[in-house]
Amino acid sequence: MHARRHFKPWRRAFYLLQASVMIGLPFLRVGGESALRFDIPALRLLFFGRALFIEDFFLFLLAMLLFVMIFVFLTILLGRVWCGWFCPQSAIIELQTMFRGALRRFRLPDNIANIAFHASAIALSMLISATLIWYFLPPAEMLEMLVSGSPLVRGFWIVQAALVYLMATLWGRRFCRYVCPYARMQGALFDNSTLRIEFDENRRDECLNCGLCAKVCPTGIDIRDGLQTGCVACAECVDACRDMTGKRGIAPLVRYSFGARLFIRPQSIISAIAIAAFAALFGALAFSGPDFDMTVSRTPGPLFALTADGSVINHYRVSVRNKTGVEREFRLSIAGNNRLALAGNNTLTVGPNGFNAVHAAVVCASPCKAAASGQVVFVLNGGGEAISREAAFFGQ
Ligand code: SF4
Ligand code: SF4
Repeated sequence: MHARRHFKPWRRAFYLLQASVMIGLPFLRVGGESALRFDIPALRLLFFGRALFIEDFFLFLLAMLLFVMIFVFLTILLGRVWCGWFCPQSAIIELQTMFRGALRRFRLPDNIANIAFHASAIALSMLISATLIWYFLPPAEMLEMLVSGSPLVRGFWIVQAALVYLMATLWGRRFCRYVCPYARMQGALFDNSTLRIEFDENRRDECLNCGLCAKVCPTGIDIRDGLQTGCVACAECVDACRDMTGKRGIAPLVRYSFGARLFIRPQSIISAIAIAAFAALFGALAFSGPDFDMTVSRTPGPLFALTADGSVINHYRVSVRNKTGVEREFRLSIAGNNRLALAGNNTLTVGPNGFNAVHAAVVCASPCKAAASGQVVFVLNGGGEAISREAAFFGQ
């Protein structure tokens, strides 16, 4: 009955779920493209059927800012729940611990078990390194480049795998305790009501002094000495104490606790409202407006060309970005100056999440005087929506 109330099986289930999602996501495709990938050659972020191009990167920065705000807010409320339940470093360490436990069942000689463990840790590091690359290169393309001997991909894969192996296997929880920058921020983010693992000082006389809570701690601290920066909130000590105190029919002395004050306090309500407002603003910016874009620039060279009959021509380059996963047709027109006309074909097709640039010639028919100089407005229509961009037109 007590085993069901242990945190460890839940944490392990979380880690396995997290690992499955992280490794599986690069294989998921939406609209023929990776569901989530940063496409370096095209400088775009593929995000579940939408494409964020370099010119939309202020949205990406806003998303990062929103992520940091949520992360800080959750840390103030829930302490190091990230470290104990979600951190990839913790997940790798826990997966390795599970594998070490499975090896023990075979009762192998120590040196063989050690070799098998490190071989599995290296294989896991290589898989993690490949997974990280898959968020930039599709898996099939990455594997093809590995086989064909691309020095960049091979080198990156090996160096990254070595770092993962070093961090998770050789440093393990020492990384959490001495290196991780997030751990260093804890002191500044915790307040009296932050969720933490703590020893119940009011019941110290009930402690059996078995020392199991300190023995199982992966970062080597004794929670009976109070909250310490080394604590990654893994709840191993809670489970251990529950095992010991359960035999005496008393509640564990080590537990999750919100401290003396209320979980819901004015600061948390204000922060939650601020984050919700920021998220709404981000959503409005990210998902409103047409899903295509246009830039207009003048082509290099003379300001205008003069034809034999006295007409004036200005040349432009019009670049159209299709941000959807399907091919689309657009119609280009001009407005703002009724003496001007767009010459040639004014429809263009742009592939899924693609880009197309066309040459546009704007003509001011003879007699075209200086009064024709001014602004010309390019209008792009696509799927019932329209966007416009202004450009300068030069007459004689
Ligand atoms: S003190 Fe407890 S919760 Fe903190 S790291 Fe050690 S075992 Fe995990
Ligand atoms: S595991 Fe529980 S009972 Fe044992 S020493 Fe730690 S706090 Fe005391």
